Amino acid sequence: MKYYYDFHLHSCLSPCGDEDMTPNNIVGMAKLLGLDVIALTDHNSCANCEAITAVGKEAGLCVVPGMELSTSEDIHMVCLFPDVEKAMVFSHYVREHTTSIPNRPDIYGRQCIMNREDEVLAQEENLLLMASNISIESAYETVREFGGFAYPAHIDRDSYSVTAVLGDLTPECNHGFAGISYDADVEKLKKLYTLDGVELIQSSDAHYLENMKEALNTIDLPELTPQAVVNYFARRAK
Ligand SMILES: [Zn+2]
Ligand SMILES: [Zn+2]
Repeated sequence: MKYYYDFHLHSCLSPCGDEDMTPNNIVGMAKLLGLDVIALTDHNSCANCEAITAVGKEAGLCVVPGMELSTSEDIHMVCLFPDVEKAMVFSHYVREHTTSIPNRPDIYGRQCIMNREDEVLAQEENLLLMASNISIESAYETVREFGGFAYPAHIDRDSYSVTAVLGDLTPECNHGFAGISYDADVEKLKKLYTLDGVELIQSSDAHYLENMKEALNTIDLPELTPQAVVNYFARRAK
């Protein structure tokens, strides 16, 4: 069955994410927009995944625990996991592989970890925008070892994308999928980059509620679970 998705969303945990991007607000907006499945992909942390998956369950919305990983080359990768436990183990791994620089909330914004009632449990102290020491070549295999799936984010953007940093979706980084923004010019991308046989996953990368978009793209899944989403990617991967 086909399900409407958005696999790239930030919560108030991302320093650049608006404080209105709370678990309940994101889930409520996703339902209003007609989405069936979303992924929460905060920068370098999965700490809000537990709250939002619980809120999603109550509301009948499938939420995939995820992360937007900054590789050592400062390339962003969308990482999706089958459950919160696996996501959190990976989140700790990324923390151990990233230099600790304290966040400056006055400059970068607060990084709020929330419970399922949208109450602030804590603020993440380390700035989540730092590059990890995980290279893009090893990121794919590493995320697979943690039970998830990773693909390069927003390849249509001129910053923090594999295309901007390496010049193309290089063979080492091409496992059959790439993320694009809603305003991406697909025909132009296909002329510029090596995208034969690559399935493009279009998502909002919303940092504000008003940037979330009405349901547009579907994914064909046998059942609506985070594991089925990860399986969809893993079974078609190169
Ligand atoms: Zn990004
Ligand atoms: Zn993002």
